[in-house]
Amino acid sequence: MNDMSPRKPMAATLRRPRDLADAGLVAESAIPALEEVAVRYAVAVTPAVAALIDRDDPGDPIARQFVPDIRELATTADELADPIGDGAHEVTPGLIHRYPDRVLLKFVSTCAVYCRFCFRRETVGQGEGMSPEALAAALDYIRAHPAIFEVVVSGGDPLVASPRRLAALVQALAAIPHVELVRFHTRVPVVAPERITAELAAALKADGVTTWVAIHANHPRELAAEARVALAKLADAGIPLVSQSVLLRGVNDDPETLAALMRAFLAARVKPYYLHHADLAPGTAHFRTTIEEGQALMKALRGRISGLAQPTYVLDIPGGHGKVPVGPAYRDGVAIEDYQGRRHIYAPGK
Ligand SMILES: *Cc1c(COP(=O)(O)O)cnc(C)c1O
Ligand code: SF4
Repeated sequence: MNDMSPRKPMAATLRRPRDLADAGLVAESAIPALEEVAVRYAVAVTPAVAALIDRDDPGDPIARQFVPDIRELATTADELADPIGDGAHEVTPGLIHRYPDRVLLKFVSTCAVYCRFCFRRETVGQGEGMSPEALAAALDYIRAHPAIFEVVVSGGDPLVASPRRLAALVQALAAIPHVELVRFHTRVPVVAPERITAELAAALKADGVTTWVAIHANHPRELAAEARVALAKLADAGIPLVSQSVLLRGVNDDPETLAALMRAFLAARVKPYYLHHADLAPGTAHFRTTIEEGQALMKALRGRISGLAQPTYVLDIPGGHGKVPVGPAYRDGVAIEDYQGRRHIYAPGK
């Protein structure tokens, strides 16, 4: 670092309603009500995220995802503390085995930011994450189950862990002969891009295993210059990248925004993978669309943007029954509908 260069002071992550008000992100008068929200659900807005928020726009799609809202205190009857049913398939503390060939490891319980719609909002932001004993038990389980081909490393957000801890994990997994894939799910390259260093990228890889990274972002403005630099560091390290987004009312529930988001992913070398229907997490009704709205949006993407840019629209079935694509359907009997809504008959041999 050149001492002559002007240096910006390192801003801190905003964690209290008071800090959010000081940063101009919420009104002073909202502080008491938001204190109640913050007691119930963790709050964190990183400097990178705060810089993306347009304070003059009351409906800003970035603010909506990260700044706490009084509506979170209202839980509807259909909402669930464990909306995707992780608990039903937890085989050792923090290890979920729902599908035969892959497991999900909740490696840490904290995140760089706390998304207001998070499906694990009842558990993230609390505790220390996996103890060394829990990690050892999870690794023993994985070693003992040769059907496990892939380990999905999640949390929380695993990329808040140090490169040293991440390298130790990846090397332990690489030493298990039947584990061929390690997939990290993270929001860090977007919300705390400064954490993505060459050292961190190297820590995610090891001989004997292939590393993939799934990037969570929901609005094209999240893929700002700093985020694109961070993603390029991962891609240049030879790590294939896929995307994960959540369909959110008021954030990305229109065809133009979704199309721009998917194109921004592609331009950053991130292959669109999943568009999740918003889960029944407590206090998130203001974010949920209907499945029919989601299907109409997916139809609007098909044919209008590159085939490479199409995510699969999925619902995680409550109760732990897994993810399923929920359409839209293009086939009705022998009739197939093209992306412009014209119907064609496909009945070879009939
Ligand atoms: C989402 C999830 C996976 C990964 O599912 P893919 O469809 O392979 O992306 C694996 N295990 C659990 C428990 C999950 O929730
Ligand atoms: S980064 Fe992921 S786990 Fe963390 S709060 Fe956001 S959605 Fe939840």
